[in-house]
Amino acid sequence: MVKIGVGDLKARPGGEIEFKGQEKWSRLATAAGSVPVIAPVRVTGKVTNTGKTLLVEGQVATTLELTCDRCLEKYRYPLVAALEEEYGSTKTPGEEGTGIGEETGVRPLVGDFIDLKPAMEEALLLAIPMKWLCRENCRGLCPHCGRNLNEGLCQCDTRTLDPRLAVLEELLREREGES
Ligand SMILES: [Zn+2]
Ligand SMILES: [Zn+2]
Repeated sequence: MVKIGVGDLKARPGGEIEFKGQEKWSRLATAAGSVPVIAPVRVTGKVTNTGKTLLVEGQVATTLELTCDRCLEKYRYPLVAALEEEYGSTKTPGEEGTGIGEETGVRPLVGDFIDLKPAMEEALLLAIPMKWLCRENCRGLCPHCGRNLNEGLCQCDTRTLDPRLAVLEELLREREGES
């Protein structure tokens, strides 16, 4: 677990500390289902005491195994995401309702440690593309035989798939009928 000790930093407005860590995750839950995480999740950055909150700025990186939307093959997807989060103490005595909560985007700081995992997960999720393609020009699968067309053409007669050719064939047949 990537935890940053900020007990000392909390007492030093304007101060900052750097951090670096990595952890092993087996899977990451995405909107399209959970995907395998096939490299350590690395994180680097710094925490700054802004006087009001602790500002975390850094970078998260790992490699996911995604499944191509077109050809259904699995592929490695290296991912680098920017991390920017603010943490604030909810337990300041005599300061009820500091506005820290969901609305402000400031995460609650409990005790003297920041557990970075939730922020790391969120940053990675935001950096995952909407469309998963093993390569930009993935040819996908043949709709007839199911062959992966990236690996070569299949034996299917693809001419019948082209509507323009179908129209032409129709015209030729009509002309033959006329003569
Ligand atoms: Zn593909
Ligand atoms: Zn085919």
